[in-house]
Amino acid sequence: MSEAKHLDQSHRPIPYGRQHITDDDIAAVVETLQSDFLTQGPKVLEFEQAFASYVGAKYAVACSNGTAALHLCTMALGVNKESRVITTPITFVASANCVRYCGGTVAFADIDPATALLDINKVRQLLENKPQGYYAGIIPVDFAGNPVNLEEYRQLANEYGLWIIEDACHAPGGYYIDSKGEKQLCGNGKYADLAIFSFHPVKHIATGEGGMVTTNDEKLYQELLKLRTHGITRDPNLMDENHGGWYMEMQELGYNYRIPDMLCALGISQLQRAEAGLARRRGIAKVYDKAFESHAGIEILGTTPEAYDSEGETGHAYHLYVIKVEDRKGLYDYLRQHNIFAQVHYIPAHTMPYYRNLGYKKGDYPKAESYYAGCLSLPMYPSLTQEEQEFVIEKVKEFVG
Ligand SMILES: *Cc1c(COP(=O)(O)O)cnc(C)c1O
Repeated sequence: MSEAKHLDQSHRPIPYGRQHITDDDIAAVVETLQSDFLTQGPKVLEFEQAFASYVGAKYAVACSNGTAALHLCTMALGVNKESRVITTPITFVASANCVRYCGGTVAFADIDPATALLDINKVRQLLENKPQGYYAGIIPVDFAGNPVNLEEYRQLANEYGLWIIEDACHAPGGYYIDSKGEKQLCGNGKYADLAIFSFHPVKHIATGEGGMVTTNDEKLYQELLKLRTHGITRDPNLMDENHGGWYMEMQELGYNYRIPDMLCALGISQLQRAEAGLARRRGIAKVYDKAFESHAGIEILGTTPEAYDSEGETGHAYHLYVIKVEDRKGLYDYLRQHNIFAQVHYIPAHTMPYYRNLGYKKGDYPKAESYYAGCLSLPMYPSLTQEEQEFVIEKVKEFVG
């Protein structure tokens, strides 16, 4: 009898993703609560430096959430109502919304159905059909944790004078292998101008709310710091005037996108377990792969070849484990009956009423729409037990038959 049989409907709910908080995490937060700093204290810089080093970037700016991180990026890059920016419809809507916050126009391009990543050939088509300078930038997404080949995107972006924001929310610690055989970590700033991360509870590193921008560009770094705090600087070297110790200057319109010190303390503590969590995610993916590989009626979402090194080790960060089935709603409902809360990632952004009102319509991106019709994200988080995973696999197979 399989172990999974021990789990019945009274087991704890199995979500598609969940945070993992340890006693060390709690102690780190309590310690900060007892310190002098509730908001901008020493933990912010410490978290930024630890995170920058984790992803191999020079600079990092922590902020209130991943959406704020995206908005800081579009502001720092000067997106305005003349700007047109290309992104994927298969992403969390914030990847597109950050362009709208600055009044810019979102241009979607369809996905590669094999991986559900933004299809670089579709992006190239858009670019070729318009004069140089028509588009301002590209926001590719490391969807599900599968790292985008940014070396390719950089070449294309250079041809057309575009910037790149890598939405790496799904892929802290992920990497792909570039054309020289070198590992390129997501968010390392080598090919993208800016990269962003989220610390929402379902993401790899959880602080409740929280976000990060990473970059190798010192100018952009300074700009992000200023925009995070109302557009204000206190650095005497950057000010027009100086009236004394109290003096500061608001030089442009920024926001309050700060993250409190105690959340950064939690982030630092979580970051110490990030590699272990990543290894566990990859282990879970292997078990799913094996279970579904040759199962009729279940298609595993593919991974780009660059996400594997020469030993076959993967740089995929597995925020999500996605399968495609014919009767997705049926499977979703069946799993729910068994207390398994699979999820759908994502409803194509261009089909949302907000984007439909801007002129997009169903049928515009057929690959994204057909992906959406069958996709389902199965439970994937480091604290998922072997028993729970076996139960999930059993129920999926039971339904698909
Ligand atoms: C989670 C997520 C965001 C937004 O992050 P928040 O911290 O929830 O604001 C943006 N893009 C992608 C791809 C995400 O998964």
